[in-house]
Amino acid sequence: FMISKELDFAIRDIADFPKPGIIFKDITPILKDAKLCTAVIDEFVKQLEGIEIDVVAGIESRGFLFGLMLANRLQIPFVPIRKKGKLPFTTVEEPCELEYGSAILELHEDAIIPGQRVLIHDDLLATGGTVSAATRLVQKLDGVVAGYAFVISLDFLNANDKLKQVSQNIISLVSYK
Ligand code: IMP
Repeated sequence: FMISKELDFAIRDIADFPKPGIIFKDITPILKDAKLCTAVIDEFVKQLEGIEIDVVAGIESRGFLFGLMLANRLQIPFVPIRKKGKLPFTTVEEPCELEYGSAILELHEDAIIPGQRVLIHDDLLATGGTVSAATRLVQKLDGVVAGYAFVISLDFLNANDKLKQVSQNIISLVSYK
């Protein structure tokens, strides 16, 4: 059993979604396979061994799926990072550079206690624009980025180099060159 192979087999490529020319990695088949979901969390836990984490921050919306499962397995808090206007309590916000245009991400101001070590999680790492904004949100609340965990990384976009300057702990379970 090799998790990267199993994931690669489950992940579905959708051509021209959400726009022409983009090949979208669809993770929904993973979610239908309970054993594979457990294997994903097992693998994250294994690779995170020895790294001190107090909080998992998951990015809207696919970062909520495994993010919550992981936080619950580790028995630590899960905090959602959402697009502007979705979180009900007082927030801090950061702009997020996207391939086309930009967005604003928010985090509840009480999500992180100063000094807490935060694992940032999303389903997929592409250019790194999204997790860079998430990093700034965590730092705004005086949290420490303990690492990054992704199910998928698109290595040809070289986002890793940028993230390494924040934390050396970068985990992805399947990467595409
Ligand atoms: P980045 O900001 O360029 O790193 O893009 C990563 C964000 O876009 C993540 O929140 C992903 O969920 C989303 N994303 C980009 N491409 C894909 C894809 O092919 N499948 C699923 N999500 C994607």
